Amino acid sequence: MTVGDELLQLAHAVGEPQRELVILAEGNVSARLDDERMLVKATGSSLAASGPDDLVECRFAPILELLDDPTAFEGGAGDARVAEALLASRVDPGAKRPSVEALLHAVVLSAGAGAACHTHPIAANALLCSDRAELLVAGALFPDQIVVLGTESLLVPYVDPGLTLGRRMRDELRAFADRRGALPKVAWLRNHGIFAIGANPAECLRITEMADKFARILLGTLAVGEPSFLPDAVLDRIDGRDDEHVRRAILDAAR
Ligand SMILES: [Zn+2]
Repeated sequence: MTVGDELLQLAHAVGEPQRELVILAEGNVSARLDDERMLVKATGSSLAASGPDDLVECRFAPILELLDDPTAFEGGAGDARVAEALLASRVDPGAKRPSVEALLHAVVLSAGAGAACHTHPIAANALLCSDRAELLVAGALFPDQIVVLGTESLLVPYVDPGLTLGRRMRDELRAFADRRGALPKVAWLRNHGIFAIGANPAECLRITEMADKFARILLGTLAVGEPSFLPDAVLDRIDGRDDEHVRRAILDAAR
């Protein structure tokens, strides 16, 4: 199976309406092809109905150069330049237009991830649009959460989607990687949605599913009282326990 096939499988899975992760043309998926190129979903198409021509091959360089350019800005003529850079990044000039969120995918994949999946899940967004969004990064509620999402994830403040968010995301990912020695499995974007960050599309699906389950359970705990997070000692023990590693391996083998 090619990377494109794997990416379409991921797009179709997260696009299933009963999952409540995206509606209309919301969300996008991407995968790194090599150090210079990625495949990313085109703008305007629904994840559920994506076909091979909805995946656009783009080079990182034109996008990363734009993020680095201090004269590039958001709004008006700035937006036109972003659109121009996204079009210029396409390997095939006849390919569809990449989503503006391709900026974020370029940031995540060039930071070392193999694939990324961005959705606007109802449960996660209920929390991300509330004044209690910090609870999403306050700890773990159940062991399987730690197996799939790790012990720490990233909460990104709300900034204008596009150039500003791309730059902010890059800074946040670098700071997280410096502190933890690896990228987060999930980035929670306030008032927006989530980014699953994995080695491949199959891992991105598992991360998206677990992040959604965690958000739903967290919402449930808030309906009956306050969340009771696992103590730090339990977190460390589970993260380092042999049988959990075995389960991690089984999860990887099952993809
Ligand atoms: Zn979005």
